[in-house]
Amino acid sequence: MSKVNNIAAIATGLSTAGISIIRVSGDTAITEVNQIFKGKDLTEVAANTLTYGHIIDGQQIIDEVLVGVMHNPRSFTGEDVVEINCHGGMLVTERILKLLLRLDIELAEPGEFSKRAFLNGKKSLSDVTQAMELIEAKNETALNLAINTFSNPTNKLVSNLRNQLLDIISVIEVSIDYPEYDDIEEITHSKLLPQIIKFETEIAEIITDSKRGALFKNGIDVAIIGSPNVGKSSLLNYMSRENKAIVTDIAGTTRDVVASEINMQGLTLNLLDTAGIRTTDDVVEQIGVTRSREQIELAALVLFVVDSSRKLTDEELKLYEEIKAKKHIVILNKTDLKPEVDTSLFTQTVNLSALNQQGIELLESSILATLDLDKFDSQNAKYINRIQDVSKLEQVAEVLATVKEGVEMGIPIDTIEIDLKDALFMLGEILGIEAKNDLLNELFSRFCLGK
Ligand code: GDP
Repeated sequence: MSKVNNIAAIATGLSTAGISIIRVSGDTAITEVNQIFKGKDLTEVAANTLTYGHIIDGQQIIDEVLVGVMHNPRSFTGEDVVEINCHGGMLVTERILKLLLRLDIELAEPGEFSKRAFLNGKKSLSDVTQAMELIEAKNETALNLAINTFSNPTNKLVSNLRNQLLDIISVIEVSIDYPEYDDIEEITHSKLLPQIIKFETEIAEIITDSKRGALFKNGIDVAIIGSPNVGKSSLLNYMSRENKAIVTDIAGTTRDVVASEINMQGLTLNLLDTAGIRTTDDVVEQIGVTRSREQIELAALVLFVVDSSRKLTDEELKLYEEIKAKKHIVILNKTDLKPEVDTSLFTQTVNLSALNQQGIELLESSILATLDLDKFDSQNAKYINRIQDVSKLEQVAEVLATVKEGVEMGIPIDTIEIDLKDALFMLGEILGIEAKNDLLNELFSRFCLGK
C-alpha cells in the first residue's frame, strides 16, 4: 500500500465566519479533491486559478465553493496544493474536512504545512519562525516586531555585521601578508580603534533591541505585592477590565483570555500568583510575606501596593527593603482618600485610585519607563527573534570587548586578529557559514589579490 502523503487542515480559525479555507497539500492532492468536487475537472484547470463548483458527498451537495489549485513547486509547501474556500460555518467546514479524510488524505499535524515548505526549500527556518511569530503575536508590539523581521531578517542584520568585520580583518590580513601592496594602507591601532568601537556599538544595539523585543513578545512577569486590604485585588480587577476591553470585544475571537495576562500599551504583563491576591481572606495569606518573597524572586517587575491613606507598617517597610534593589514601582493606592503615607523613602511612586479607576495611564507609562521600554520603536528595531542567535551575539560582543582592550593596550595586531576571526566565525555560525574555509576566498574577492 502506498504511503499517504497528502495532508489537509482547516487553515482559518475554528469559528463562524464568512468563509473558511481548507488546505490540502501532497502528491495527489488535486486528484483526491477532484473526487468530491462537482464543476470543472480540477486536474485540467490552469494552475493558480480559482474554480467555482460544489463539494459533493455522493449525489448530495455539501457546499458551494471556490477551489484554488496550485501546482508543485509553485505553492506554499512546494507540493500540489488545493485550497477549498467554503462557507464559514463550523459544521460545514468540518464536514468537508471529514470528507477529505475519507480519501487518501490525512489530517495535518500542527505546523506540518510549514514543515513541508521548509523541507522543500520554499521557506527558510527563519521564514517559518517569523510566520509563527506573526500568528502567535500576543500584542500589537509583538505583531509589529514580527512584521519588521520580514523586511529586516536576522540574516540581513548579521550579514551586515559580518561584512563589517570581514572588512576590518581583510585590511589587517592584507597589510600583514602583502606589505608590498601600495594601494593598501597599513593598519595601525589608532585606525583600528574607531572601527572596533563602531562595530561594538552596532552589536550592542541589536542585542538591546532584541532583548527588549523579547520582553514585548513574551510578556514580563510581574508581582503585585502588599499588605492585606491595600487594594491589590481591586487594582488587579481594574487592570484586567482595561485588558478585557481590548481583547474580548472582538466577536468570535478564539483567543483565551487568561485572567493573569494583561495587555497594556503593547506590553503583556504576566501577573504572578493572582490566586494569592484573590484569597486575601485566607488567614495564612494575611501574612503574605513568604508568598510575596517567592514572587519577588521570580518577577521582572514588582508592583508594591500601599494604602496612601494610612502610615506604613513595619512589615511594609521590611517588604520594601526586599524589593528596592529590583525593578519596582510603589503604587500609592486610595488617593481618593486623605493622604497620610510618608513617601520620602520611595524612589518611584504612582498615585492611583483602584476604586475610582483613576491613574492606570500613569501606571502604564511608568511600567514601560521602569523597564526601559518606553522609547522602543518596534517597527524599526534591530530585532532578532531567536534567543540562541542573541546569545551568540552576546559572545561576539564579549570577544569584541577583549579586542577593544587589546587595541587600547597596543597588543600586536596579528594577535588581535585571532580574536576578530573567532568573532567572525561565531557570526558565520548564526548564518550557517563555514567561515574558516570561506575566509580566504572572501578576502581575495575583496581585493582581487593575485589576479
Ligand atoms: P487587597 O486585600 O490588597 O487585595 O485589597 P482589596 O482590593 O480587597 O481592597 C481592600 C478594601 O479597600 C476594599 O474595601 C476596597 O474596596 C478598598 N479599596 C481598594 N482600592 C481603593 C481605593 O482606591 N480607594 C478606596 N477608598 N478604597 C479602596
